[in-house]
Amino acid sequence: MRLEKVKILGIVYKILYHHELKGDKNELLNGRIDYDKAEILIKNDLESQNILNVIYHEAVHGLSTAMGIDLSEKQVETISNGLLCLVRDNPELFDLRGLEGGLK
Ligand SMILES: [Zn+2]
Repeated sequence: MRLEKVKILGIVYKILYHHELKGDKNELLNGRIDYDKAEILIKNDLESQNILNVIYHEAVHGLSTAMGIDLSEKQVETISNGLLCLVRDNPELFDLRGLEGGLK
């Protein structure tokens, strides 16, 4: 199953999978986020594990921009890796359905 969208602070980003992705300097990329079009672009032949890493990475870029905190590439990398580990180790922490307002 592939994710088709992710909501980042109220903005829904479409996740699109492409055969080849290039950055502004024509460099090959595994992913990129387009704020104007509200799209996250992912290289489509990555292993599913790496696709998830790239989606988290681009989502943290999206958070950084939306919150105006201007994280560096290294900070985005570190936080997205840590966040993915946290979610993996504690899925119940991130499934808030039925929990909010009920934690006592
Ligand atoms: Zn990045």
